[in-house]
Amino acid sequence: MTLRFSKQNLENITAAPRASTPEDAGENGLGIVTRRYAVGITDHLAEVIDGAGPDDPVALQYVPQVQELKILPEELVDPIGDEAHSPVKGIVHRYPDRVLFSPISICAVYCRYCFRREKVGKPEGVLKTAERKAALDYIRTHPEIWEVILTGGDPLVLSPRQLGEIMKALGEIEHVKIVRIHSRLPVADPVRAGEDMIAAMKKAGKAVYLAVHINHEREITDEVRTALLRLHGAGINLLSQSVLLRGVNDNADTLAALFRALVGLNVKPYYLHHPDLAPGTSHFRLSIAEGQEIMRALLGRLSGIALPTYMLDIPGGMGKIPLTPSYIEPFEGGGYSARDYKGRTHVYTPQIEKVRGHG
Ligand SMILES: *Cc1c(COP(=O)(O)O)cnc(C)c1O
Ligand code: SF4
Repeated sequence: MTLRFSKQNLENITAAPRASTPEDAGENGLGIVTRRYAVGITDHLAEVIDGAGPDDPVALQYVPQVQELKILPEELVDPIGDEAHSPVKGIVHRYPDRVLFSPISICAVYCRYCFRREKVGKPEGVLKTAERKAALDYIRTHPEIWEVILTGGDPLVLSPRQLGEIMKALGEIEHVKIVRIHSRLPVADPVRAGEDMIAAMKKAGKAVYLAVHINHEREITDEVRTALLRLHGAGINLLSQSVLLRGVNDNADTLAALFRALVGLNVKPYYLHHPDLAPGTSHFRLSIAEGQEIMRALLGRLSGIALPTYMLDIPGGMGKIPLTPSYIEPFEGGGYSARDYKGRTHVYTPQIEKVRGHG
């Protein structure tokens, strides 16, 4: 299957009647949304949501809605402050030992809640040859960079030849030990994440981690399963990233099913992101307290290897922090109150802390 925005499919989908806010629901509401933000869906995903209703958890991720026109004052064009840490075009260097490297601003699909929605889908974000060289030079001349995270856009939208060139260049930089790729492609167009792409990834000759963006178990089709097994079989380390989204996966049952299915396919659930303050995405957001309640419900119920870390990216480029609910509180005068996964509290004293090791 070729990677393309299937207009026909999308038109069929967006033409379906959808519930929307009364004020914004004017006849042309969707037209305004699609003019403002990139829209795109692959044939593969169009098939997954074919015939589904407006509340379908997969359709909600890709099909534009008039609610996107509602921009709240706290929403930000650059919600995680990438710009503040960009020394050269295509590089974000926020943490000392790792950089984001975005060679391309195009994606296979456009997620309606995307944190980079003001940037993705615009051709000016695709690095020109000289810009790509400058970005690689930056990595080459900064020996503290241990890990390069290819992101975008979607780096796997590059042709295998282009990706291979980048991987080879990274492979030649001695201090870069890890290459991580953040991609939606294995879910959006699994056939394309095939042998040629794997060969390109391996051109780095280093440990390669692929973090797959996936939010619902229904996105794991037979083709996706095949793609993930093939990637794992080829020695690519697989992680997943999900975004906690109202109406899509905002309950423990849905997330437990997703994370279990991923672990069964050799994918380690890595991060569950609290939704960022991206413009026109308030209909997807829930409170941190709600998110923590869901995480509490998953603790103990889900194997540790299936449990991702719930993360917040602090607006303004301040970095990511875990939103893990707190299970332990110090008593005044010594000791702790420790809450177990069933919600019962126990006393944990410093004396115990001293004699117990971790065997
Ligand atoms: C998210 C992010 C990373 C990666 O963070 P990890 O916690 O290592 O996954 C690196 N750099 C920037 C700028 C980021 O936003
Ligand atoms: S694939 Fe990633 S970058 Fe592209 S639209 Fe979705 S969330 Fe945004």
